[in-house]
This record gives sequence, structure tokens and C-alpha cells, in this order.
Amino acid sequence: MKIGFIGLGIMGAPMALQLVNAGHQLYYVKRNKINADIAASNAIACATGQEVAEQAEVIITMLPDTPDVEAVLFGKDGVAAGLSAGKTVIDMSSISPIETKAFAKTINALGCDYLDAPVSGGEVGAKAASLTIMVGGTEEAFAKAKPLFELMGKNITHVGGNGDGQTTKVANQIIVALNIAAVGEALLFASKAGADPAKVRQALMGGFASSRILEVHGERMVKRTFNPGFRIGLHQKDLGLALQGARELGVALPQTAGAAQLMQVCAANGWKDLDHSALVKALELMASHEVAKA
Ligand code: NAD
Repeated sequence: MKIGFIGLGIMGAPMALQLVNAGHQLYYVKRNKINADIAASNAIACATGQEVAEQAEVIITMLPDTPDVEAVLFGKDGVAAGLSAGKTVIDMSSISPIETKAFAKTINALGCDYLDAPVSGGEVGAKAASLTIMVGGTEEAFAKAKPLFELMGKNITHVGGNGDGQTTKVANQIIVALNIAAVGEALLFASKAGADPAKVRQALMGGFASSRILEVHGERMVKRTFNPGFRIGLHQKDLGLALQGARELGVALPQTAGAAQLMQVCAANGWKDLDHSALVKALELMASHEVAKA
């Protein structure tokens, strides 16, 4: 298939490479910094999103935030300008469920399908083609796109209509943020009490407190490896979507609000580009104690 892929960052580049390695012809927008493996492949560089959409049958976006997706789809020389009836736009970024519904309507009006298909599993999952993919859109569009999803992920669920994929991703980000805060508080408590946090983590890995977050993010907290991974700034965006949605729905999310405040502390201290496991640094600041020394 001819596939356009726009947004070749930490996640997008390895995801796009899975498609190239499966024999699909990739089109991307030429940028200053292009992933070396993509540049060395037979993928074709285009000048604009419009050109990508003119060439490809399916156009995938993997961009940071809602305004980025809006600009790439509907901005000057954007994807929408190059679409013709029968093509499919798949947005795999994590963005607003509300805006997603509006984007889908506009793309549908051009005679094209739209799927929101955000992912979970991080850079590791993107490289291993083991991402969890949560999809919103019509059954028909999902069935057509499924073989592509299967090249990038393992746990692929068609949740419902447009926006439902993004809503699922927001729910995912609430769970992950609260787990990181819980692991951070537990390791900080243990360390301040004089126990070795590495041993505490190891002991807890066998019981009810065990989780992927304790395993991966807990290890990062102990070893002080805060290079991303998933940036605090991106998780702040996701919790913003959760709290904005909660206000509109009239639902209180007190723990999510607390985690968002801790991320705000990180951002205010210049840690926005660190991995989200660095949320523990906000707790450490308040305790004047570090879980472990670098
Ligand atoms: P990133 O910042 O590494 O990548 C974004 C890419 O988009 C960059 O390469 C940037 O150059 C490109 N880009 C921005 N504007 C563009 C434009 N106008 N035209 C073409 N390219 C443009 O971010 P990421 O970590 O890959 O995350 C992408 C999305 O996936 C985000 O919504 C994030 O929340 C979500 N996500 C990330 C992870 C993770 O672990 N990093 C996990 C799950 C979901």
C-alpha cells in the first residue's frame, strides 16, 4: 500500500519503519531532522502534507498535540487539500476527543474515512510492534485499517465511534499518571525511612503492589534514568485533556488533578522534557529527600 506518515518522532519513526519493513511504500514530509533509518529506506520525501495525501491511500499522523494535528490536516498545504474520495486518515497521536469528532466530520465530508487510533506502550512497544491501539471510527474503516495496525501493535481494540479511541487513551493516561505518583510516594517513603529503595521495589514486584509502572518507572526512579521515554510535557497535555473533559462532563477527578499539579511542579523546575517517571522529583522537592542518588 501507499502510506503517508507524518510525525516521525520518538514513536512515529519506529512505527513507520514497521510499515516500511512489511513492504509498504511510505511517503513523509521532509523536515530538518529526519530519522536516519527512514532516510536510508526507500521511503519518499514530500514537500507538504498535501503532496503526501495526493500520493498515499492511507495517511497516518503521529504528532504531539491537538493544534499540531489540526495544522497538519487543515493548515496551508495540509493533508485535507490533497485528499480525494476513498482515502483514509488515521490519527495515532494522543489528542482531544472533542476536537477529534470535529476533524472526523470534516474529513468524512471529503468522502474519506477517519480513524482515531492512539497508542500505549511507549517507544519500547513501538520498536517491538507490540503497541496497544485503541480505535474510534466506523466498523468498515477499522476492518480496512486493521492489517496496518497489526504491523504496529498487538492489543488492538475497536472501542466505538470517532473520539472513543481518544477517550480510551485519556483514561489510560489517568491510570498511568496515578500509578507513577503512587510508586514515587512509596519509594520516597521507603527511602526516607532508611530502606534501600531498590530492594523495596524488588520485594514489591512479587505482590499485589506489582505493576508495569513499578517495574519500569520504579527502576528509573531508583537508577535516576530520566531521559525520555515519554516526556512530562506530553503527559501534562494528556491530563489537561482529562481535566478539561471532566469539567465538561461534571465529573470530579481529584487524584488526576493532584498528579497534574505534580507535573506542573516539574515543568516549573525545567523538567518538562524529562521522562514522566521524573514526577518523583516533585515529591522529592517537597520532602527535601531523594529516593536515590544519581
Ligand atoms: P515527538 O515529539 O518525539 O514526535 C513528534 C514528531 O512530530 C516530531 O518528529 C516532530 O518533528 C513532528 N512534527 C511536529 N509538527 C510537525 C509538522 N507540522 N509536520 C511534520 N512533522 C511534525 O513525540 P512522540 O513521543 O513521538 O509522541 C507523539 C504522540 O504520541 C503524542 O501525542 C504523544 O502523547 C503520543 N504517545 C507518545 C508515547 C511515548 O512514549 N513517547 C506513547 C504513547 C503515545
